[in-house]
Amino acid sequence: MPAREVPLENLVAEAQRVLAICNACRYCEGYCAVFPALERRLAFDEGDVHYLANLCHNCGACLYACQYAPPHEFELNFPRVLAQVRKETYREVCVAAPSRLGVQSQWNRCRGGRHG
Ligand code: SF4
Ligand code: SF4
Repeated sequence: MPAREVPLENLVAEAQRVLAICNACRYCEGYCAVFPALERRLAFDEGDVHYLANLCHNCGACLYACQYAPPHEFELNFPRVLAQVRKETYREVCVAAPSRLGVQSQWNRCRGGRHG
């Protein structure tokens, strides 16, 4: 059975919760570009969440280092929530937006490696 889709607003809310914890903790600040970028902010609007999610390359290092990962009660899984948000931004930018602009066929050609 396919996994149930979580609404984007719920994903953003979960990412905002996680980002606030990470911004207080900062243990992972040397791991990748996400942490220095999040440390430049005190609060995270939806645009910030989308931007940070797309800086993550899903290496998993912060999950394995995290003292707040499950079974801790914070249930913090930073790469997972960023990946979930990232997937929704891809859906919006790579699928929905080109379709609205009438360039879906161009996108399909590019994706298929044809340039004509
Ligand atoms: S992932 Fe965990 S250990 Fe790393 S900064 Fe966030 S809260 Fe701290
Ligand atoms: S999983 Fe993403 S946020 Fe975590 S260390 Fe790797 S690139 Fe950075």
